[in-house]
Amino acid sequence: MQVAVPVPLPQLFDYLPPAGEAPPAVGSRVLVPFGRRRLVGLVVSQDPASLEGALKPIEDVLDQGLLTPELVELARWCARYYLFPPGELVNLLLPTALRRSQPFRPAAPEAWRLTAAGLQADLERAPRQAELREQLLGAPRSREQLLEQGFRPELIRRMHQSGLIEASEQQPELRPEPGPALNDEQREAVVRLLAARRRFAAFVLAGVTGSGKTEVYLRAARALMGRRGQVLVIVPEIGLTPQLVRRFERRLGQRAWTYHSDLSEGERLACWQAARSGRARLIIGTRSAVFLPLKQAALIVVDEEHDSSLKQQDGARYHGRDVAVLRAQREQVPIVLGSATPALESLNNIDQGRYRLLRLRRRAGQAQEPRWRVLDQRGQTGPLSDALLGLIRKHLMAGGQVLLYRNRRGFAPVLMCKACGWSAECTRCSAHLTWHQVGERLQCHHCGAVQRPPRRCPECGDPGLVPLGAGTERLEALLNEQFPDTPVHRVDRDRLTGKHDFETLLETVRDGRPCILVGTQMLAKGHHLPGVTLAAVLDVDQGLFSADFRAPERLGQAIYQVAGRAGRADREGEFVLQTHHPEHLLLELLGRGDYLLFARQLLEERRAAALPPASGLALLRAESQQTEPARRFLRRAADILQGSGLNVSGPVPAIMTRRAGFWRYQLWVQSAERARLANVMAGQLSQLQALPEARRVRWHADMDPLDF
Ligand code: ADP
Ligand code: ZN
Ligand code: ZN
Repeated sequence: MQVAVPVPLPQLFDYLPPAGEAPPAVGSRVLVPFGRRRLVGLVVSQDPASLEGALKPIEDVLDQGLLTPELVELARWCARYYLFPPGELVNLLLPTALRRSQPFRPAAPEAWRLTAAGLQADLERAPRQAELREQLLGAPRSREQLLEQGFRPELIRRMHQSGLIEASEQQPELRPEPGPALNDEQREAVVRLLAARRRFAAFVLAGVTGSGKTEVYLRAARALMGRRGQVLVIVPEIGLTPQLVRRFERRLGQRAWTYHSDLSEGERLACWQAARSGRARLIIGTRSAVFLPLKQAALIVVDEEHDSSLKQQDGARYHGRDVAVLRAQREQVPIVLGSATPALESLNNIDQGRYRLLRLRRRAGQAQEPRWRVLDQRGQTGPLSDALLGLIRKHLMAGGQVLLYRNRRGFAPVLMCKACGWSAECTRCSAHLTWHQVGERLQCHHCGAVQRPPRRCPECGDPGLVPLGAGTERLEALLNEQFPDTPVHRVDRDRLTGKHDFETLLETVRDGRPCILVGTQMLAKGHHLPGVTLAAVLDVDQGLFSADFRAPERLGQAIYQVAGRAGRADREGEFVLQTHHPEHLLLELLGRGDYLLFARQLLEERRAAALPPASGLALLRAESQQTEPARRFLRRAADILQGSGLNVSGPVPAIMTRRAGFWRYQLWVQSAERARLANVMAGQLSQLQALPEARRVRWHADMDPLDF
C-alpha cells in the first residue's frame, strides 16, 4: 500500500497491511515505522508502488477510512500538479491535532437538549440543575449559550452523566435576518447560480466594492444549503473579515465556523470534525479550508479571488482559488469567484468557456461612482502635491472622510548621506533598509533585520543623513501637521498589531466623522467604508516600471480596489492618482474607469508575449550562499528539462537577487499546455533531486508562480 508520510521527500512510501489484517481503506490514518521513528501517515492507495524490497507492515490503523478517497485523490492531484512532495498531503488533509498518534476523539457536543428523564426529574434539591432545565424547555441550547449564562461545564457534565440531558444534533435555530430586495443584476446572478444546483459550474462575479456581491453569495447560499447542505467560503485573510463572518451568520441563521491559522489546535480540530460530520453548515476559512472534509457540500464561494495570498508561498504551493474550482467540480456543486478586480487567469477561463461571467455594474443601494483624476506630481517637492492637499481639505470641510493608499510602511524607504550619496542597505538582501522613526530603527522589510541608524555616514563621516521618500509613518506625520484638527489613522502592520486593532479602528471610522486614513494594502482589501468621499493612490509609479510582468495587473487591481472606496449615497466621490508619468499608457487605460476593459487589454498583451495565463509557466528556484552553486544546479536542470521538450530559459536572477544571505536564481519553464508542463515536470523531479548539484542548494519548483 502507498502511504503519504510527512517527510520532505518527493515520493510516497510502500507498506504492507498490518500483520494478519485486511488492507486499510484509502483515506485511513495509520501509524508507520519510518527509519527509527514512528510517523502518522495517510493511506493514499491500496496498490503497491513497487514489488521489490522487504516492506515493513503498517504498525497501527488509527482511523479506518477517515477521509473519502475523492478528497485524498484531489490532494494527490495537487501534489503532482503543484510539484510538492506528497508527504505534504498529511499536512493539507489533517489538522495538527490529528498528525500525532492519538486516536481521533469526536468533539464535545455543541448543543444540549432535555431527555424525558430530565423533564420529569425532581430537582428541588438541585436549584442550578433546575435552572439549566428551565433553559432547555422548548428548544436545545448551544454549549456556548449555556456557558455564557453562567452554567459551569461540570454541571453540564453531571446532568449528562445522570441522563437528564443529551447531545442534540440539531443546532439551536437562529432566525435568519431578511436582506434587502435584490436589484435586477443581483437577481439575475442568483437565478443563474441556482440553476446550477447540485452540479458543477464556475462563475466569476465581477462588481465593484459595494455593488452587492456579498448579497448575492448570501442569497445563493440560503437557497442552496437546504436542510443539510454545507457552504464553504474562502477568503484571503480571515483576520480582516470578522464583519463578513457575522453578516453570514446573521443572514443564514447558522453558526459560522472559521478555519485559519490563528485558531488554536483545538479550535481547528473542532471545525474540521464539524465539517466532516456535516454539523458545520457554514464554514469561512482561508485557503487551507479548501481541503476540509465535507459531508454534503452545496456551494463554494471564493471572495476576493484575485488576491495573491490565496496562493501558498511555501511547502505545498497550491492556489486556493484554483483548487476550490477543482473541489467544486468533484463535489458537483456550483462555485462563485467574486472580485471587483478579477484575476487575468479567471478572465481567460471565461474566454475559454470554462467559467461564466456574472456582472454587477452598478453600486447597490444608491452609492455613486467616483470621479477620476490624475494629478501630475512633477515639480512637486513633498509626497503630497498641493492639489491633493487642497482636495483633502475640501472633502474634510464637506464632512467627508479621506483614504490615502501608500504601499510602504515606515517613515522613509531610504536613509541617505547628503554629502556622498551613501545609503543604508541590508547586508543580507539586495534592498534598502527602511527608516522607522517610531522606535528609531532601520529595518529590512525582506529578512526582518533591524539595526540602529548610524550617527554619521559610515563612508565619509558626514552627519547629514536624510530620509528619502515617504512611507505611511511620514505621511501620518505630514498630515497631522497639515490637518491638526482632524484625526489621522495610520493603517499598517506596525500600527495595528493586535488581533482586534483593525476592527476597532474600522468601527471608529464607521461613525462617519471626518478623518484621514493613510495605509498600506490592508486598506485596499474589500472593507466597507461608507463615509469615504475621497480616495487616493500615492505611489503608482513603482508599478508602472516593474520587472514583474504581473505588476501592471496588481497596480490596476490596487487602484480599482482603492477607487471603490470613494463615494457614498448622498455625495459623489472623487478618486485621485498621483504620478510623475501622467501620460503613461497604462494610466490612460486605467483612467477610463472600467477594470474589465483594462484587464482585457493586459490579457491581450500576455497572449502576445505567450505569458500566463496564455501559456503554462513553472519556475525552478534555487538559492545558495554563493552565486555559483545555485546557477550550476539550474544549468544542469535546464539541460534535463530541455531534453524533455519544454521551453526553458535561464538561469536568471530573481527580482530580489539576494535575500537573507542567499543568492536567488530561477529557471523559467514554459509550455503552451499547462497539463503537459505539469506532467513533464512531475516526471522529472526525482531526476533533479538526484543531481549531485542539488545537494548544495535550496531549491523547489513552483507551478503557476506569482512571485519572481
Ligand atoms: P460587495 O460585497 O460587492 O462589496 P455588499 O453585498 O457588501 O457589496 O453590499 C454593499 C452594501 O449595499 C451593503 O451594506 C449591503 O447591505 C447593501 N446592499 C446590497 N445589495 C443591496 C440591494 N439590492 N438593495 C439595497 N442595499 C443593498
Ligand atoms: Zn557620506
Ligand atoms: Zn534583509
